Amino acid sequence: MNPSRNPFIAGNWKMHRTVSESVSLARAVADGSRIGPRTEVVVAPVATALAAVGKALEGARVGLSAQNVHWEDQGAFTGELSPGMLKDVGCAYCIVGHSERRQLFGETDANVHRKLLALRRHGLAPIACLGETLSERESGVTYDVLRRQLDGMLGALEREEATALLTGLIIAYEPVWAIGTGRTAKSTDAQSAHAYLRDRIRDRFGEVADTVRILYGGSVKADNAAELLAQPDVDGVLVGGASLDAAGFARIIQAAG
Ligand code: PEP
Repeated sequence: MNPSRNPFIAGNWKMHRTVSESVSLARAVADGSRIGPRTEVVVAPVATALAAVGKALEGARVGLSAQNVHWEDQGAFTGELSPGMLKDVGCAYCIVGHSERRQLFGETDANVHRKLLALRRHGLAPIACLGETLSERESGVTYDVLRRQLDGMLGALEREEATALLTGLIIAYEPVWAIGTGRTAKSTDAQSAHAYLRDRIRDRFGEVADTVRILYGGSVKADNAAELLAQPDVDGVLVGGASLDAAGFARIIQAAG
C-alpha cells in the first residue's frame, strides 16, 4: 500500500445469502471488525438484499456496493437496475466488469465503459474489474490483455473527461485463474500487474493515476492478505468467498491496518 491512498477492502457476496442472512452478515462485519481510521470497507450483497443491508449499515463504517448496473436511467430493460435506483437504496459503489459477468453473461469492455460513465454521472464509485485467463497468462499475453481491457473500459476520452472519470475510480485486478480457485497470484506478480496498470493510466492521463486505487482479487484470505497489501501498488483487496465469513473478513480488514 502507498500512504497517499486509503486502503480499500471489498467483499463480493456474489449470488449468496437471503435478505435476512445478508443483514446478519452485514451486522457481523460492521460490529466485529476493527476498521483502521483510513480504511474503507464495502460489502456487495445480492440485489434483493441491497435495501435492507443499506438500512442495517446506516451509521456504520461499512459501505454498500451493488454487483452490477445498467447504464440507462430507466426504460424497457427487463431485469436491470439503474445507477439512480442503486443510489436510492444506499449504494455508494458498484462492481462492474467482473469476470463472471464477462464470461457467463457477455459483458464487454464497451459496456463497462458505458456503466462507468453512468455511475460517475450519479456520483457512485465504480469498482471496475479486469484480469487475464489462465491460457492468456500461459501464452505470455497478460499485459496485452490488461492493456486492452483497461483502454476499452476507459474509452477514448480526452484528458479532462478522463480525469473526472478516474477521480474516485477503483480498479480491481482479478486474474481469472485465481478467482474461487484457492490459487492466489504471487504478491510480486500482483504488484507488477498493478504497476503496469498505473503506468498505463499515467501515460494516457497523467498524474491522476496516482489517486486511482487498484485492488487485487482472487482467493484472498486472512492468511495471504497482509503480504498482498504490503505491495506498494496494491491498495486493497476484492474478496469473494472469504468475505462470507465475518470473522475471516474481519482479519482481512485488520491486515489493511
Ligand atoms: C471475486 O469474486 O471477485 C473473487 C475475488 O472471488 P474469490 O475471493 O472467491 O476468489
